Amino acid sequence: MALIVAKFGGTSVASPERIKNVAKRLVGMRQRGDEVVAVVSAMGKTTDELMGLASAITTAPPARELDRLLSTGEQVSMTLLAMAIEARGYKSMSFTGRQAGIETDGMHAKAKIVKVHNERIMEAIAAGAIPVVAGFQGIDANGDITTLGRGGSDTTAVAVAWGIGADVCEIYSDVDGVYTADPRVCPRAKKLDAVSYDDMLELSGSGAGVLQMRAVEFARKYDVVIHSRSAFSEAEGTYIKEETDMMEE
Ligand code: ASP
Ligand code: MG
Repeated sequence: MALIVAKFGGTSVASPERIKNVAKRLVGMRQRGDEVVAVVSAMGKTTDELMGLASAITTAPPARELDRLLSTGEQVSMTLLAMAIEARGYKSMSFTGRQAGIETDGMHAKAKIVKVHNERIMEAIAAGAIPVVAGFQGIDANGDITTLGRGGSDTTAVAVAWGIGADVCEIYSDVDGVYTADPRVCPRAKKLDAVSYDDMLELSGSGAGVLQMRAVEFARKYDVVIHSRSAFSEAEGTYIKEETDMMEE
């Protein structure tokens, strides 16, 4: 039995149909005997749309209010996913960043996670539920909502994996792993089975935009194994972890 954190990006939860698919996949993990905690991004282009609304009001939205606004995107997807899991006959509970114990510094729009208070997530798992955590957001020392920068749900997932001592942090997206170059630009790019944290950070320049770099830095610091894989297939993706001899080859 493994303890898995499974993060689903915006494309993977872009419609009710896709959210139902994610629920099916999570339930499948439970049926195989694994424990799973889901982390979700906002549906599709929601974050961009919310940014658009703010800039239609003012060219300089106050950082505190903008973070509060943007955090609502993930709060929609998390509740819909929890409902979809319950509709399959499994218990689920969704949690905002605050409820999931994601404590950050006070840097709005680019907050850093300083602590994960894992009690509620652990309690939900113990109660037999599949917890669903809103990505991208936390709470600062004043109790204000912060966001972690664009793509920040990846960092939430890695932090939650670290906070609960998960075996692996699976990051599901519309790409099936990490390539030697951007496959859309370079058709001969090869998918890697595994890549070290350092190489992953270096690859960021060559189109490996599959993960938020801060998530990789966090994973390196706390030794969290990331598995970047497709939300639309069962195929294995790319493991990002400490260097091994096999990876040298
Ligand atoms: N929804 C946020 C964004 O679009 C966070 C994320 O997707 O990871 O940047
Ligand atoms: Mg992303």
